[in-house]
Amino acid sequence: MPELPETETIARDLDAMVCGAVIVGVEVRKADVLREADASGFAAALHGLTIAHVWRRAKLIVLDMRPTAAVATAPPATEPPWRVVVQPRFTGGMVVDDGSLSEADRAYVAVTLHLHDGRAVHYRDVRRLGTVALMSPERFTKYSTALGAEPLDPRLGDAEFSGLVRGSRQAIKVFLMDQKRLAGVGNIYANEALWLAGIDPSREARTLSEQESGTLREQLCAVLTASIAARGTSFRDYRDARGERGSFVEQLAAYGRAGEPCRACGRRLVGTHAIDGRSTVFCSHCQR
Ligand SMILES: [Zn+2]
Repeated sequence: MPELPETETIARDLDAMVCGAVIVGVEVRKADVLREADASGFAAALHGLTIAHVWRRAKLIVLDMRPTAAVATAPPATEPPWRVVVQPRFTGGMVVDDGSLSEADRAYVAVTLHLHDGRAVHYRDVRRLGTVALMSPERFTKYSTALGAEPLDPRLGDAEFSGLVRGSRQAIKVFLMDQKRLAGVGNIYANEALWLAGIDPSREARTLSEQESGTLREQLCAVLTASIAARGTSFRDYRDARGERGSFVEQLAAYGRAGEPCRACGRRLVGTHAIDGRSTVFCSHCQR
C-alpha cells in the first residue's frame, strides 16, 4: 500500500512530466473508482483544462487544474477550477504513457487523461479499492483540514509532535498510523521509525518522554526522507509514475523481517498481530 514516500514519488514524477499539459480527452473505463462525480461529469469538468501542478497531501496525489489560456501570454487564473484527488489505497497507481507502456501495464487502467501531445496519464488499480475524486478548491480545503499533520512539514516541530503524542492513549504504533493525527504514515514506516527510535510499538503514546518523542520524530522524518530518495518501497503492486519499482525495500530493518536477526543486536525480531491486527515487527531487546 503506497504510504507517504511512494505517493510523494508518484506526485513528483507526475509534476515533472505533465505539468503544463492540456487535457484533450477523458476516458473512464471503470466508473466505480470515481467519487464526487459521475463519468460524464468528470469528463466534462476536466476536458480542455491544463494540469497546473501535481503534489501530495497525506497518502493522496492531488492534480491541480487551471483554465487553458487562449493566448500563451495570458496570465493563468490564480485559483484552480478543479482538483483531482487520487487515493491509491492498496493497489492503485498513476502512470504516464507515451505509447511505450506494455499491454500488461495498461491492464487495469480505470481512468485515462489524454494529453495534447499524445501522451496519457492513467489511473490503474488491480483491486479497484482506490478512488479518484473531483473536488472544487473549497471542497478540497475542507477535506484536507480533517486530515492530520504532515510529518515532514517544518511547522510540525518537536513541541507540536510531542503534544500530539502525549495527548494520545493509543499504542504509539496505532498513533503513528492514525491519519487524523499524522498523515501519510502506514504500517511500513510506523514499524521502521519505532525500530530506529528504539521504542516498543505497544507502548501507550502518552507514556513517551519528551526526549523519546523527539527521537521518534527525528527517526520518522529520517526514514521517510531516505525512502523518498530511494523512490519508495515496492511490495507487489506499487510502481512509480514511470512504471518502475522503488528500492527502499532493501533498506528495511523491521517491516517484513520477523524471525530475522535484528540489525542492531543480532537477536531474532518478533512478529505479532496483537497491537492493531496488522503485522508488527520489533526487537524485544532494542525497543523499550
Ligand atoms: Zn535488537
